[in-house]
Order: sequence, then structure tokens, then C-alpha cells
Amino acid sequence: MAMKYSVSRIGVFDQCRLKYKYQYLERLTPEMETTIEAFMGSRVHEALKALYDGVKNRRVESKDRLLSLYDELWEKNFSAAVKIVKKGIAAEDYRIKGRACLSDYYDAYAPFDAAKVVSTEETVNFSLRDGAEEYQFMGVLDRLDWNDREGMFEIHDYKTSGSLMTQDQADADIQLAVYQIAIAARWPEARTNAKLVWHYLLFNKEIASRRTVEALDALERDIIAKIRDMESCSAFVPNRSALCEWCGYQSICPEWKHIRAVEALEPNAYMNDPGVALVAKYAELESRKKEHQSEIAALEAEQAGVKEAVLAFAEREKTNVIDGPGFRLLVSVREEMEAPYKSEDEARWKGLRDLLIAEGRFNEVSTVNNRMLSSRMRSWPKALWERMTPFLVRRRTCDVTLKKKS
Ligand code: SF4
Repeated sequence: MAMKYSVSRIGVFDQCRLKYKYQYLERLTPEMETTIEAFMGSRVHEALKALYDGVKNRRVESKDRLLSLYDELWEKNFSAAVKIVKKGIAAEDYRIKGRACLSDYYDAYAPFDAAKVVSTEETVNFSLRDGAEEYQFMGVLDRLDWNDREGMFEIHDYKTSGSLMTQDQADADIQLAVYQIAIAARWPEARTNAKLVWHYLLFNKEIASRRTVEALDALERDIIAKIRDMESCSAFVPNRSALCEWCGYQSICPEWKHIRAVEALEPNAYMNDPGVALVAKYAELESRKKEHQSEIAALEAEQAGVKEAVLAFAEREKTNVIDGPGFRLLVSVREEMEAPYKSEDEARWKGLRDLLIAEGRFNEVSTVNNRMLSSRMRSWPKALWERMTPFLVRRRTCDVTLKKKS
């Protein structure tokens, strides 16, 4: 049987390739039946379908009847299998939100006679063609209306999500535009004459968008390209994101399976899990490394004080080697003329650079720094060296090296 594509299938592919593989290629059953957000959305959709099925038959139910129907649908379908992801929000809060969506919607649109209802919750099947290739597509339209006053089709979609799409997002959204392509297969005029309408029920806000024929042609090409992408995909890698909380495959997903496997363990069993034990050991070593780093820093500070004393002793006693038990300290003190650092004396640094540029030497060193001094300057003519001297700084370098006695 030919593969059937849908906007949600594309959405899952774009969200996470691994989830796509689990859900659409391997057809694995998700471990949770539904989330509370999806559950509430389904009940609101069912209530609105019932309302508009009545409208289609010239029967407008009262708002009370609509809300009672919603409550009945909630009671009949709710179970402990409905997963509440967000902390601090109860199922009852969602039920009340769904009721508020319906109540506001009813007040805004009663008596529901702005257009004629063509269908509710209709599954549409259609194909997209590219030469000899044909791809089967399907979708479910929340509601299709014929607006006889404006002479156009209206494709309605109900949203119960807590975020409101922008107009730009509506104008770029593919779901309802794909449905417009499907409707145009039956009524060709719909290709030029259809309005896409989203009802953001939690906000009691309607957002609308129109598509040109060119935009629909481009969308068909984009979708066919996406389908080819999906068909040729061989790397189904997980894409961890905030949406994972709503994914029903966490118990087998490599990004989550260990977290989920140990989260319900009793404390003893948890600590005995080999993965947990490895993390505990790794974290302990990391912490010990940090402790030693602070010890090392303290030892280095103490050693710097001893080094100062060593240098003072060497200067006082005029010696470069100091004998001790098993070791000797080799003291080296050098004073050299060096280029200044720009941060140390910008005027001199710039003067030296300008002199070298004027003398045609700058390219040899590319920049004025001390590596240049050691590698190049000593071979330059004495006269140039003398002209450079005012721009140089005298720097004293003191080294102390511990050497084992042989
Ligand atoms: S849990 Fe996240 S990463 Fe894993 S399959 Fe699901 S969406 Fe993808």
C-alpha cells in the first residue's frame, strides 16, 4: 500500500527523526495514550463538531447544552492514562479552560449563520503529483464552510494551544494551505477563492490568511521535496528538545531511557543501578579534582614566595646555583631589551611599528612583539637597532629551576 503523508507526519519528521521512525515507520505504540492538552483539545473539537452538525441541520443548540455535552465527553473519556506534563496544573484546570474556550466561542459566533457548513471533521484524501510520481496525502479538516455572501470557501481550524500564532506565522503555515489544495481538487474555484481561518479558542481570537495560486504551487513543490527528503532519510537521530516531554517514546529513546528506567526506583535500588553508580563515581572524581585544584593553587602561591626568597638569596650571595638535599636550584636572571606590549605602552609600541614600516622591516616580523625580537632583530644593522632602542623596554626575567642531583 502506498505511504500516506500528512502535515502532522511532516511536523514529526521536522521535530525529531527518531520519533518519526518510531511513530510512522515502525508504528510503535506510544507508552502514554494522550497528554492532557491533547485530551482537552479533542473534547473541545468533539463538542464543536456536534454544535456545527446541528447548525448544518438548522438546529442551534443552547450554550448550556454545548457545555453539558463537553462535560459528558470529558467524563466519559477521561482516565488515569491521560498524562499531565506541566507541574502544578490539575486535570480539572484543563477541563475548566476547555469550557471557557467553548463559552467564549459560542458568545462570539452565535447564531452561527455567517456561512453555510459544508462538513465537520472531514478526512480528505488527495494526491500531489510531480511528473510520473504521485504522493498520497491525507488530512482532517475541522470545518469547511461555504460563505455564500462573500462567495468563497472557508477552511476553519480550532486551536486550544496556549500560544497565539502571529500573522506572519499564519501566512507561512502549511496545514490549512494543504487543505486548500485538497479542497481545490473537488472545487477548482477554491484554488483562488478560499480563506484559511484559525480559531485560537483560549484567546477568543480569529486569525485569517489567504493564499495566491503561485503560493499554492510553490507549497506543492516544497511538500514534494520534503516527502523525497523523508523517503531518502536513513539517519534517524534523536533531537532532544522541550517537546520531548510530550513524546510517548521516552522509554526506548536513547536520550531518555535511563532517566525513565530509574526514576521510579526505591532509593536503595536506585543507588545500586550500574549506570547511577558510574555517574556517582564520575561526579565524585570531578569534585575531588576541583578540591585538588584549589590545593594546587595554594601550593603555587606558597612556592612563588619561596622563589622570591631564592632570588634574593642568589642576588645577595652572588650565586646562580644553590645546593640542597637531593636537589639544586638553578637561578637565571636575564635583562633584555624587548618590544613593549601594546597594552603596556601604546605610544612606544606604535612608534616601533611605524619605524619598522618606514625601514621596510615590518613585513619580516608582521607584528611588533618579542618573538620578532628574538628571531629577527639581532641580525639587523646596528644603526637600525640604535634607532629602535627608544621604543624598547628593558625587561628582567628571573627563572628558578629545580634540578635533581646526579
Ligand atoms: S523523547 Fe525526544 S529525542 Fe526521543 S524520540 Fe521523543 S522527541 Fe525524539
